[in-house]
Amino acid sequence: MDPGSDSDLSLDEGNLTVRGRNKAARAKGIDPTKDKGKGKAKDQGYAWEANYTRSWDTVQEDEGGSLQGAVEELMARGRRRRLLAPAAAIRRTIIRHLILLLDLSASMMDRDMRPTRFDLTLEYAREFVTEWFDQNPLGQVGVVAMRGGIGERIGEMSGNPQDVLKALSERHKLEPTGEPSLQNAIDMARSSMSHLPTHSSREILIIFGSLTTVDPGNIFDTLQSCIKDKIRISLVALAAEMKICRELCDKTGGQFGVAMNEGHFKDLLFELIPPPAQRAVARTTGGGTTNPAADLMMMGFPMRLPDTSPPSLCVCHAEMRTAGFLCPRCMAKICDVPTDCDVCGLMIVSSPHLARSYHHLFPVKPYIAVMTLDNAPKPTSICHACSLPFKVQPAASVTDGMSPLGRYRCPTCSNDFCTDCDVFVHDVVHCCPGCEK
Ligand SMILES: [Zn+2]
Ligand SMILES: [Zn+2]
Ligand SMILES: [Zn+2]
Ligand SMILES: [Zn+2]
Repeated sequence: MDPGSDSDLSLDEGNLTVRGRNKAARAKGIDPTKDKGKGKAKDQGYAWEANYTRSWDTVQEDEGGSLQGAVEELMARGRRRRLLAPAAAIRRTIIRHLILLLDLSASMMDRDMRPTRFDLTLEYAREFVTEWFDQNPLGQVGVVAMRGGIGERIGEMSGNPQDVLKALSERHKLEPTGEPSLQNAIDMARSSMSHLPTHSSREILIIFGSLTTVDPGNIFDTLQSCIKDKIRISLVALAAEMKICRELCDKTGGQFGVAMNEGHFKDLLFELIPPPAQRAVARTTGGGTTNPAADLMMMGFPMRLPDTSPPSLCVCHAEMRTAGFLCPRCMAKICDVPTDCDVCGLMIVSSPHLARSYHHLFPVKPYIAVMTLDNAPKPTSICHACSLPFKVQPAASVTDGMSPLGRYRCPTCSNDFCTDCDVFVHDVVHCCPGCEK
């Protein structure tokens, strides 16, 4: 078989189909159609024999020896991406439930990503979880591992980032071994989400380093039950594209990507942090096409107990604790919010959590790059947010989406902002200081 061809490779054992994605595999010097290790091309060394990745070479200095140009180019890229985002309000699921499915099979010990796929995955998974909870404070994450042919529950579904990070930081408990089983692991993840209410999203994010899966039955049955349960599967592959992986994502509305290198791996993961747009739901009653009926859901705002309150049993851990929260409906004592009350099932949130989820639904409009001041009668000389003066001399050459004057104008309130404030407003504050929208 020609190793460079786009041919399909099917093995009979265990419902396995591999399609070598040559772009990704070639970038890493791996031949996807051959056995690892033996299949290395003669002229291509092993990953640990390769030269240093000279990451600093990708940043180019300009004539003056400054890195300003490179930094501005990076910012412009972010701005262009923001302009591509849909401007109209779309429905997003802000109450999310995610199962992080980690491949802990032997192939995760490969060193094509440094230090190993396994260590890099753990590191990125921890960063991912921190950022995910920051942007989705009403969400809950659980961790499932696939190794030794089974799915293994590593961390229970929890709304507390510390619980999830703790599960991911115990490296000695996560040693990769054996073969992965996509079917067993997905079934395990699916069973831990089966009880969830319909208004929350059910998502599985798989980080998959193998090119094989050892399944006890037909994985397409699992795929069908995921579609039925409205579970969205996204997958980041570390080796090459497999047809079954692509199909799992496409059929359930998730995203699929093959990581080319360490940086791309992180980008693929972090793209999955913003809440997904809600899929159109066919409604039988009420609501026209212009005004889809809203789903109302019940939430409780708990009462916080002071640290000095007498100790009492909590319903979540059955331990004597002093501080905590009281469920407003059944008065059960709970340690952490957001959560579902263990006694009456009411969803308990705190109002700051709710407010922080809000910005995804009403994003700040992208600012427009001001190209010229000719048709503005009295332009302000300072940034509306930080009061630093704007450039007087326009820059000679600019990349697409950048203002030569370093001015970015809010389309609603027409105030001008500098580059730094533009990024800060859209990435951190999520509220325009000029019009408070
Ligand atoms: Zn507790
Ligand atoms: Zn309750
Ligand atoms: Zn500013
Ligand atoms: Zn504004």
